[in-house]
Amino acid sequence: MNLILFGPPGAGKGSQSNNIINNFNLKQVSTGDLLRSEIKTQTDLGKKIESIINNGELVSDDLVNTLIGKIISDPKNFNRLIFDGYPRTISQAYSLEKLLKEFNQKISIVFNLKVDKDIVSKRVNGRIICIRCFRIFNVYLNPPNSKNHKCEKKYLKKRTDDNSKTILNRYETYVVKSKPILDYYNKKGLLLEIDGNQKIVEIYDKIKGILENIRD
Ligand code: AMP
Repeated sequence: MNLILFGPPGAGKGSQSNNIINNFNLKQVSTGDLLRSEIKTQTDLGKKIESIINNGELVSDDLVNTLIGKIISDPKNFNRLIFDGYPRTISQAYSLEKLLKEFNQKISIVFNLKVDKDIVSKRVNGRIICIRCFRIFNVYLNPPNSKNHKCEKKYLKKRTDDNSKTILNRYETYVVKSKPILDYYNKKGLLLEIDGNQKIVEIYDKIKGILENIRD
């Protein structure tokens, strides 16, 4: 099965992807992570992406669609992708459908993680990520400790776009672009709403129960 985790920044898409891949034979595709890897190359393209991300804006559809195309066309990923942070525009949703069709696949389910604005802000401001094991923590809500994190502290970093100024822009962008995407998947009968304000484990229990009953 292929699935989409949809929701505003800070909805917990990355945390839920981590949980899902620990229990199911699926692979996470985060366009945010792919773009951050591009930034590390410090090419002209990487520098352009960095400035767009740090302003809380969206990178061009063409660029992300190309990155996703490379992943979908890889036979190793056949029918086992979790799309995290993609699609983010209706044009990306159309492109995803076309690409999947070309490679004889489809989306089985779209989880819409609904989260209130004040919670988004708290989660994003407190978020820290281990650049070694890619686990996601939160200094207020889910701090790393010797039980839940084995890497050295020096690997824990804050994302440069996780600050109060950028988060407002990212949230507004989400609000403007999300409606047509949600309508699109709702019409196809693929949309499932989840209360993303709950604790990570509670959300995961719901997602797990649903995924266990999907056969394709
Ligand atoms: P994320 O890691 O999903 O929070 O994404 C971080 C940033 O990367 C976003 O604020 C956008 O600037 C950019 N980005 C990630 N995914 C997409 C996408 N599907 N389309 C356009 N820009 C994206």
